[in-house]
Amino acid sequence: MPFRPDYEALTKHLDDGKKYARNPRHVSDILEKALTAEPLELPEAAALLHAPPSMDPQIFSAAKKVKEKIYGRRIVLFAPLYISNFCVNNCLYCGFRSGNPSLRRTLLTREEAAKEAEAILSEGHKRILMVASEDPRLDGKALADYMRAIYDAKNGSSIRRVNVNAAPMPTEDFKELKSAGIGTYQCFQETYDEKIYASAHPSGPKNDFHNRIDAMERAFSAGIDDLGFGALFGLADWRFDALALLSHGFYFDKEYGVGPHTLSVPRIEPAENAPLSLRPPHPLPDSDFRRLIAVLRLSMPYTGMILSTREPAELRNECFHLGISQISAHSKTNPGGYSTNDESTSQFSVCDSRTTDEVVASLLRDGFLPSFCTSCYRSGRTGDAFMALAKKGLIQDFCQPNAILTFQEYVSDYASARVKKLWEERIKKELAQINNTQRRAHARKNLEEMKDGKRDLFF
Ligand code: SAM
Ligand code: SF4
Repeated sequence: MPFRPDYEALTKHLDDGKKYARNPRHVSDILEKALTAEPLELPEAAALLHAPPSMDPQIFSAAKKVKEKIYGRRIVLFAPLYISNFCVNNCLYCGFRSGNPSLRRTLLTREEAAKEAEAILSEGHKRILMVASEDPRLDGKALADYMRAIYDAKNGSSIRRVNVNAAPMPTEDFKELKSAGIGTYQCFQETYDEKIYASAHPSGPKNDFHNRIDAMERAFSAGIDDLGFGALFGLADWRFDALALLSHGFYFDKEYGVGPHTLSVPRIEPAENAPLSLRPPHPLPDSDFRRLIAVLRLSMPYTGMILSTREPAELRNECFHLGISQISAHSKTNPGGYSTNDESTSQFSVCDSRTTDEVVASLLRDGFLPSFCTSCYRSGRTGDAFMALAKKGLIQDFCQPNAILTFQEYVSDYASARVKKLWEERIKKELAQINNTQRRAHARKNLEEMKDGKRDLFF
């Protein structure tokens, strides 16, 4: 049986959660369980979603601890690369929608996509999220060709992991992406409320709610086992979508032994000629946004959590402490945005416009360890192999040394003097935190080899 949101059960959990949340003891008991890094049950998550604002300090502190228990203090960086803004859908919140008459449309050539990858590489990134609007010309084979062009691009070094955010496609097309070396396949359900979904997607193939839900199973059956789930917050009641998103992820874990590799929490941003982006039906205030991130982290401790540059710098800095483990930096949301300066073809406005170096400096100052690691995917630690390590809190035995090595590479080849200085003051402390003595010694040896020009060393 494919996944379908169980509206009755979700509504009951949320109603019960509201009642339970009135009792601070009950909320504290749930937090105690969450601190063991055991996934929460849906009724427990519902109670945390409803807990009064006075419980924020405890909930936020637990989320930070759980994230550090699983992933340590590392935060992985990536950049999105948009290849097209031609779209057959009419999503009423998106600047790329077919009904936007004033958008200048562009479909990059493979060469132009490679140029974009080169520009992204020049900032030190090694991981790209390739983003595509829905366009019959962009079938699995075409998307796979773009991925190959991005992998082949060279600028000092090359891109080591390409994740893809693209429309649902048939299993055969997913197989093309698999053969081109896809990292994670991302597809956000936007909202799990079928009625709101129908009104936000009035025409085009995306109007088919179930086809979108089933995309994850088709991708999985094509061999793609790192899957990125998400919802677009602002369309429907945020607690409902948060709980439905969790139920989708738990279903996957139960059915296939692999939970979501990542959860994304995009909030609707203003976009040109996109009516729902200017007046979201259920706007999500910052206070609830913070709670959303913390509760998702506590409910699904082993899952990567992504925060994009849709959010302003200050709020992003705060959210990094609530369980976020992957972030984009210096993003452009228009095809060709890195090699040209034409913002008029963007999907939505980006709020955090800091350069990658500025983001990295701020992460270091706040005690995080920036990472450009792509090692799990390249070492075959995907799907259940990754989950088995993440669930036991063992993944950070890889994350910590790999973060140090890839960040050292960034510092040697791209960093500003300010970041170099911050890293000099930190590297010893980070090395000391590699628990396994042999691995620590190995990392030290790798760092020496890097002084002689060696690159791309990882565990
Ligand atoms: N076209 C594909 C699709 O819709 O699945 C993939 C690319 S689409 C550009 C990626 C995501 O951007 C969408 O799934 C949606 O959640 C998000 N998005 C669209 N319009 C947005 C807006 N105005 N603000 C923030 N996120 C938006
Ligand atoms: Fe097209 Fe995706 Fe934008 Fe919808 S969200 S209009 S499918 S690019």
